[in-house]
Amino acid sequence: MYQGSEKQRGRSPVAPRGESPVSVIGAGIAGAWQALLFAQAGHDVTLHERSDAAMTQSTSYWAGGMLAPWCEAETSEPVIVRLGIRSLDLWRENFPQTPFNGSLVVAHPRDRADFERFAKMTSGHRRLDAAAMTELEPSLEGRFRDGLFYPDEGHVEPRRILPELHARLVAAGGTLKFNSDVEPDALDGIAIDCRGLAARDTQKQLRGVKGEMILIETDEVELARPIRLIHPRWPLYVIPRGGNRFMLGATSIESEDNGVSVRSALELLSAAYAVHPAFGEARIVEFGSGLRPAFPDNLPRIAIDNGKIAVNGLYRHGFLLAPALAELTLGYVERGVIDNEVMQCA
Ligand SMILES: Cc1cc2nc3c(=O)[nH]c(=O)nc-3n(C[C@H](O)[C@H](O)[C@H](O)COP(=O)(O)OP(=O)(O)OC[C@H]3O[C@@H](n4cnc5c(N)ncnc54)[C@H](O)[C@@H]3O)c2cc1C
Repeated sequence: MYQGSEKQRGRSPVAPRGESPVSVIGAGIAGAWQALLFAQAGHDVTLHERSDAAMTQSTSYWAGGMLAPWCEAETSEPVIVRLGIRSLDLWRENFPQTPFNGSLVVAHPRDRADFERFAKMTSGHRRLDAAAMTELEPSLEGRFRDGLFYPDEGHVEPRRILPELHARLVAAGGTLKFNSDVEPDALDGIAIDCRGLAARDTQKQLRGVKGEMILIETDEVELARPIRLIHPRWPLYVIPRGGNRFMLGATSIESEDNGVSVRSALELLSAAYAVHPAFGEARIVEFGSGLRPAFPDNLPRIAIDNGKIAVNGLYRHGFLLAPALAELTLGYVERGVIDNEVMQCA
């Protein structure tokens, strides 16, 4: 169990375990981790999800699933790195099969200056020459003259890990209710609101930031880890999925439209083609997009009003942050520990 840091101070516990039932609303990545850690700690937990087990209505369904705190440091506040690194431990502990093969960052010669900037803004990497890159990813032989390797990063496949989290919750004694549309105020006991963008009725500052993705399929390329391609506008990447599939992601657009534009599709497909021309022959399986729930500062927030707790604003870091945020909520409920950087008390 995480012992806390100078970022934390104490309050009275809300409900030492077993004293009060815990309801979690929303079975996306935030709610699934909250419910799991509370159930594992011995609480009486019910997880409510208004859609069905396919989870296609959640933002989490569309995500890349990268667990990349060091790469994200380029554009994120230190709190994301701090919580992200803690989350990696929790992923490892709870899902030991999670691939931690690292991430590789590459660039084409015209984006060299941005590549060097990325190297300076981030830590936890080592520079690989072309031969070392080929050893790591044989499919990339001859494609790039060097790259940045972040060996401790991992990735999960959202459409596989969400059902696993849900099953793990039930195995830990929790209850999971699909097609259960509930509001936090209607619940007794402790209510943990993880409704993502739907929580805008009570969290007025939330906005959606569109992320577009494309799923392609080919057996011509094999990758063991996410490859990030430096790009002047988006952090574009190719993530290997099971069954010869690859996810191309992701744009970041201040829009709540949920379509995929021609321009975005061209950019995502060009990025894949730039990583390897064999992607040009790949079959397109799916275009899609999700709306990332974000506060104005793009930082996550745990808003506490006694037994009503809202966990939101996970923006582009839901998979990276959800375990650590769940651990913080549990620490607050059981021991009254407050993390000053992410918690706000009424
Ligand atoms: C293209 C794309 C790529 C991304 N890549 C990454 C990545 O590589 N790594 C990473 O860490 N993050 C990534 N993200 C960000 C990540 O997907 C989000 O931060 C995360 O999904 C937010 O999770 P959430 O649980 O808060 O919301 P959601 O996943 O939207 O879950 C909220 C759930 O609440 C349910 N709900 C709403 N109202 C109610 C109600 N009244 N009753 C019951 N249920 C309700 C909804 O149906 C939904 O299932 C990406 C996002 C996108 C769009």
